[in-house]
Amino acid sequence: MNSTDSSTTFGKARKIVIKVGSSLVTNEGKGLDRNAIADWCRQMAALVHGDVQGTPREVIMVSSGAIAEGMKRLGWTSRPHEIHALQAAAAVGQMGLAQMYETELSAMGLASAQVLLTHADLADRERYLNARSTLSTLLEHKVIPVINENDTVVTDEIKFGDNDTLGALVANLVEADVLVILTDQKGLYSADPRKDPNATFIHEAKASDPSLEEMAGGAGSSLGKGGMITKIIAAKRAAGSGASTVIAWGREPDVLIRLFSGEAIGTLLTASTQKQQAKKQWMADHLQLRGSICVDAGAVQKIQNQGKSLLCIGMTAVQGDFARGDVIAICSPSGQEFARGLANYASFEAKLLCGKLSQDFEAVLGYSAEPEMIHRDNLVLLGR
Ligand code: GLU
Repeated sequence: MNSTDSSTTFGKARKIVIKVGSSLVTNEGKGLDRNAIADWCRQMAALVHGDVQGTPREVIMVSSGAIAEGMKRLGWTSRPHEIHALQAAAAVGQMGLAQMYETELSAMGLASAQVLLTHADLADRERYLNARSTLSTLLEHKVIPVINENDTVVTDEIKFGDNDTLGALVANLVEADVLVILTDQKGLYSADPRKDPNATFIHEAKASDPSLEEMAGGAGSSLGKGGMITKIIAAKRAAGSGASTVIAWGREPDVLIRLFSGEAIGTLLTASTQKQQAKKQWMADHLQLRGSICVDAGAVQKIQNQGKSLLCIGMTAVQGDFARGDVIAICSPSGQEFARGLANYASFEAKLLCGKLSQDFEAVLGYSAEPEMIHRDNLVLLGR
């Protein structure tokens, strides 16, 4: 790998999100691994205190392990399937998790804060802005936020699903420079090294490279929710706000200190895409949408290639039940989502406005608000 790229990425990084997975945190489910947690806390303190290359950094920890630790404490040997059992385990385990980070960080002279989030917190604009301000305030005060999904209350509709996704969305929320995903593997291989003797290690790639998903396969662990694939998708998401991602083995000695000293460790997935405006990134990070609008080929061309607004004249169908101000998908004639944005009209109004010119809105609805369905300032193109 070109070590200059690595040292520039990490040397310049001021705001870092570090995500550690369940199997590392709980020593493969045997129980919270105090030595490992203490060791990451020691390294985080070195980063915050400016002991690595003389640069003080802001650090956020996204830690899994609540369910695995809860299972251990409750004496459960296999992961339950019932949602309430998982939620109960998370509630039990999160106590121990937060307590251990608090103890180990405070031994290093650092204050910590527990932050539990659901996707609904970030999908709602007001709560998203609140979460962002709170995290910025904690960082200003040199407090280390220790974040996890609020597993005890999440349902399918409002969950991130896995902490790789949560890590990426937090990186976008705080506009971090780097997302570090610490896992039980050294990084990404071109194929599964247990099955393919020709598999080679990927030192560096562009996060947007479409061949990465294929390389990642589906391998995950029985303790955590993610596999390599969720880490690749997380890197793609984080790239949207300009953050590069590194996937590295969490037990690599001094992994964080060495990374931020410029050493090439693990797989670096660089953010080559242009940094998205924060509000547009917020829309791109919605995991579930309330509705979608299909448009004709002419509208696809105008939106995608000319950066135009979505006008009702180009709309062919409206799906879902959404309100004014909701984030909705814009789909091509083949049904593929290529953009999304904030609806100026609710779904029941949009259905009536399909194929209409703005001067006809009043006659159709009895009133008229904005002349377009989604204004270009509130519209984000996907996959760029
Ligand atoms: N939030 C879950 C936990 O703390 C972990 C999710 C994941 O493994 O990605 O147990």
